[in-house]
Amino acid sequence: MLLSKPKSYPTPIRAVGADYSQTRCVGGDGGTMIDTGALNRVIEYGENFVRAQAGVRVGTLVRALAERGQELPLTPEMGHISLGACAVTTLPQASYRAGFAQMSSCISELKLITPQGKQMVVHERDRDLMRVLRSSYGLLGVVHEVVLRVRPLTAVKIDYHVLSLKEFAARCASMVDAPGALRLHISPFEDRITVERRTLDELGSTSRSGIWQIKSSVMRNVLPAFGSTVGSVLAAPGLRAVMLSRVQRALRATLDRATRGVVMYSHEWMRDLPAEAWKARHTYTLWAFPQADFPRVLSEYFAFCRAYYKQHRYRCNVVTGASRLHQDRGSLFSASYSGHMFTLEPSSTGDKGWEEFLIDFNEFASELGGTPTFNQTRALQPEHVAKAFGERLKLFRALRQRTDPLNRLRNSYFAYLLG
Ligand SMILES: Cc1cc2nc3c(=O)[nH]c(=O)nc-3n(C[C@H](O)[C@H](O)[C@H](O)COP(=O)(O)OP(=O)(O)OC[C@H]3O[C@@H](n4cnc5c(N)ncnc54)[C@H](O)[C@@H]3O)c2cc1C
Repeated sequence: MLLSKPKSYPTPIRAVGADYSQTRCVGGDGGTMIDTGALNRVIEYGENFVRAQAGVRVGTLVRALAERGQELPLTPEMGHISLGACAVTTLPQASYRAGFAQMSSCISELKLITPQGKQMVVHERDRDLMRVLRSSYGLLGVVHEVVLRVRPLTAVKIDYHVLSLKEFAARCASMVDAPGALRLHISPFEDRITVERRTLDELGSTSRSGIWQIKSSVMRNVLPAFGSTVGSVLAAPGLRAVMLSRVQRALRATLDRATRGVVMYSHEWMRDLPAEAWKARHTYTLWAFPQADFPRVLSEYFAFCRAYYKQHRYRCNVVTGASRLHQDRGSLFSASYSGHMFTLEPSSTGDKGWEEFLIDFNEFASELGGTPTFNQTRALQPEHVAKAFGERLKLFRALRQRTDPLNRLRNSYFAYLLG
C-alpha cells in the first residue's frame, strides 16, 4: 500500500533495521523510511528452525535460542543487527565450513513486499531467487519475516597463538586446513598477529567448570583486550586515548592466560553496543581477499600501513581484525563467492585522518583483487564494485531495473554504486 502511493510516501522507500551499517546503504535521502523495529516478535521455535519478524535483533534471538539449547549456525559478535539486515546484507563471519560464511546463509525462507506492493514468500529451494534476495539491501523489496536454521547449542573451544608476520606466512596453509573458525587480531606496527581458533566441541568433552568463569573473564578481559569490544568501551566520551592505551596494555597482560584455552558458548561472545548507532565510536572497513594470497596481502598491508604513517603521520588506533571465510555462494554479493577468503578490517575510533586513510586503503585493496561489501566497506567507489563483482553486478543491475522500473526503493547511494 505504502509502495503504491508515491505522493503520500515519497521515493525512495528504505527499510531500516538497527541503522548500524558502516555506509549510507540505508540512505533515506528525504524519502520514506520504514523502521522495522516494531516487527519484534519471534513467531515459532522449531527443532531445526526459528521463524521471526524482521525487526528482531539477532542478540535477542540468539539468547532466546540458547535458553532452549539451540543456536544459529553462525553467531556475530554484535547483537544489534536486525534479522532483516541478516537476510539481505553481507555479514561475513569467521566460518566453520563451506556454504556458511555469511549470516544470510542461515536464512531458509523470507517474506517480503515487492516494489509493486505485492506479498512474496521465497524458500530455499528457489535457489537463484534466494541468492539474489540475500544480497538485495532493500532494493528488491521490504522483508518482514524470516526463517533461520538452528542447531543444538555447542560449546566452542577457543585457543590463541601469537605469531609474527613471518611465522604466520609459514603456518598459514596448515592453519587453514585444521578444523575450526579463525579470527585474527592484527597489529602491523608491532609485527604481531594473534590467531584465535574457535573449534566446535561437538562431543561435549570439555568441562567448563574450573577453566574460567567464562562470562566475567572472557567477555570483560580477553575479548576487549583484542580490541573486539572496543566499541562499547569507547562509548563514554573523552576516554578515547586512555582506553586505547589500556586496550593495548590489557592485550599484553591477558595473552599468557588466553593461550591456555577457553571454552564458551557462542551467545556469550555477543556484545551490546549503544541502542543509538552514532554513540558507538568504533568504526571499521572490510574487504575480503583470496585465502591463498592472504600471507602476501598481509605482508603488503604491513608495508602499506608503515609507508602511510611515514607520509601522513596517521595510523589506525584500533587493532585490525580479520576472519577466515569458507566459500559461500548463498548470496550474489557474498564476500567469499569465488572461493575461501580472509577479510581484512582496519579499525579506528574515527579520529582525524581516518577518512583520508580509507581512500588510499580502498585503492590498495582493490588493486590486490579485494572484494568489498555495500554495508561494511567505507568510501566505496563504482570502479571498486565493478572490478570486484563483474558479471554478478550486471545481473543484479538488470534484475533491479526490471523489478523496480520506477526506482521506488533505490537511494542515491546505490544509484551511484550500481547505476
Ligand atoms: C561498532 C560496530 C560494530 C559492528 N560489529 C559487527 C560484528 O561484530 N559482526 C557483524 O557481522 N557486523 C558488525 N557490524 C556491522 C553491522 O552489523 C552491519 O553493517 C549490519 O548491516 C547492520 O545491521 P542493521 O540492522 O543495523 O542494518 P541497517 O544498517 O539498518 O540496514 C542495512 C541494510 O539492510 C537494509 N534492510 C534492513 N532491514 C531490511 C528489511 N527488513 N528489508 C529489506 N531491507 C532491509 C537497509 O535498507 C540497508 O540497506 C558492526 C557495526 C558497527 C557500527
